[in-house]
Amino acid sequence: AGLMVAIDGPSGSGKGTVAKLLADEIGLPVLDTGLLYRLTGAVALERGVELDNEAALAEMVGDMLIGLSWSSDGIGYDGADWTPRLRTEAVGAAASTVAAKPLVRERLLSLQQQLAQAGCIMDGRDIGTVVLPDAPAKFFLTASVRERARRRWSQLKQMGHRGDLDEVLLDLKKRDQRDRERQHAPLAQASDAISIDSTTLRVDEVVDRMLGILER
Ligand code: C5P
Repeated sequence: AGLMVAIDGPSGSGKGTVAKLLADEIGLPVLDTGLLYRLTGAVALERGVELDNEAALAEMVGDMLIGLSWSSDGIGYDGADWTPRLRTEAVGAAASTVAAKPLVRERLLSLQQQLAQAGCIMDGRDIGTVVLPDAPAKFFLTASVRERARRRWSQLKQMGHRGDLDEVLLDLKKRDQRDRERQHAPLAQASDAISIDSTTLRVDEVVDRMLGILER
């Protein structure tokens, strides 16, 4: 198996950006597991599958796995690139609702484990704890909730979405709560993960710290 680096943390902690920069430095693909949950949420919305119907969602995911292509470049399904339409707040909220269903997580687990084997940087919420518990390098990225909301808000603005900072903050708090309090594989720091608070750090500073730790 190749080198596996697990990066977990809440929304807006900078995982995605940091994972990409780290990947450029060490030459590994990045697998963003949030895309799997976002795709699940988006497909459910599009097909009118109820977000609380665990059995129906699990069946939908089973079908979905057949037409799925997931890589550093994003996620494709049924011959189309879904990545661009998965970044909205509506899809993020749907993702965190379906991600709370144990059967949904279970069905997505082996795909994540299989694709990681060749070596990768994998980012998500439960990578160090559940998906890759034996990964030799684990990071847990945090930042204050205000700073995370500000980052998400400016990201949304860049993508041309309107958005009120207070609204983004409220959405983020709700999502955090759902991610931390769910019964199955909640957002949590693995006991052997190294935690980095990025509230007052630039992304390149976070990446430098990680590189320093990986070199040890
Ligand atoms: O990281 P991102 O914001 O794209 O993730 C969207 C949602 O997917 C999260 O709020 C979380 O509920 C869920 N998720 C998860 N486990 C992961 C990755 C994402 O539950 N490993």
